[in-house]
Amino acid sequence: MKRIDPQTIEGVQRQLANVQQVLIVTHYNPDGDAIGSTLGLYHYLSRRGHRVDLVVPNEYPGFLQWMPGNDQILLASQNHQAAIEKLHRAEMIVFLDFNVLDRLQHLEEDFRQARVPKVLIDHHPDPEPFADWMVSTTQVSSTCELLYELLVAMDGEQSITRNVATCLYTGIMTDTGSFSYNSSLPDTYYVVSRLIEQGIDKDRIYWRVYDNYSADRMRLLGYCLNTKLKVFPEFGAAYISINQSELNHFNYKSGDSEGFVNYPLSISGVMFSAIFIEQEGYVKISFRSKGDFYANHFATAHFNGGGHKNAAGGYSELPLEDTLNKFESLLSDYKNQLKANCLSHAD
Ligand code: 5GP
Ligand code: MN
Repeated sequence: MKRIDPQTIEGVQRQLANVQQVLIVTHYNPDGDAIGSTLGLYHYLSRRGHRVDLVVPNEYPGFLQWMPGNDQILLASQNHQAAIEKLHRAEMIVFLDFNVLDRLQHLEEDFRQARVPKVLIDHHPDPEPFADWMVSTTQVSSTCELLYELLVAMDGEQSITRNVATCLYTGIMTDTGSFSYNSSLPDTYYVVSRLIEQGIDKDRIYWRVYDNYSADRMRLLGYCLNTKLKVFPEFGAAYISINQSELNHFNYKSGDSEGFVNYPLSISGVMFSAIFIEQEGYVKISFRSKGDFYANHFATAHFNGGGHKNAAGGYSELPLEDTLNKFESLLSDYKNQLKANCLSHAD
């Protein structure tokens, strides 16, 4: 392993020794890795005797609300003032699972201005250098996997209690789609084996996350696959779009469309997939790819976003129909890259 340089480990260690009050924050629209790393670190720091505040910018789905310590999280979207008060009493801030401060959305400026030591722990490419200690590499499946390595480097295996292990495993499982992508390095499985040794209930974690959907969500998925999926065999691409009235019809709740974007990739020959979800005033977009098509570069160049090579996101302020037209014409512009990717990864 050893993917974090010793000076960084020592720096974080020394900093922690000097502070009582630590604030942990993660990104807007948090996913399993964001919540898992936040709560995993919370359990570790609390046990070390720190006072820990947890701030999450906005709501997250029910299938992530079961992890131990979940009731400690403050949703800044529900109480902005309380989040700012926690920020003001922090002696140190740990930023988890994002690489650019604008992923804090309405909290960005306050956190940028904070004059306390900052630590970033993250696995996205090209991080904005805003923290005093950057625990950052793309050579891991997830922030949770990297956090495991940091905790063990600081305090040995005994830092990984069952609660810590449950949270970290959840993040690794969700960021790899249950070990179907971002999971080709042996170290991931070493970490997983150590987490399982802590007595986590791996099967139960799986069903808390993946077998916990509402009937409405299943029906929305069926509807999208049946009528809203558009396939472009000539580009090896496909997308799904959902407008507001469709969301209302299926009683849409935050997180209901999680994972939909992966389905088109299981069509033979489709290597690039997108989903467009109409929100108030903008369209939220997710991209997924296989092989060497850089979904993050595409998201940054055209849709105000970023992310990883094979999993990225962004948004559009054009109306939904215009956004879809823009995407379709971009497919033509990217025809050569898309086709080259399909050919180089064909059987
Ligand atoms: P998702 O599609 O699951 O929302 O996000 C996939 C990946 O894309 C995440 O790992 C996240 O880092 C990145 N991502 C999603 N939305 C945005 C965005 O608006 N801006 C940036 N920079 N990255 C995003
Ligand atoms: Mn992540």
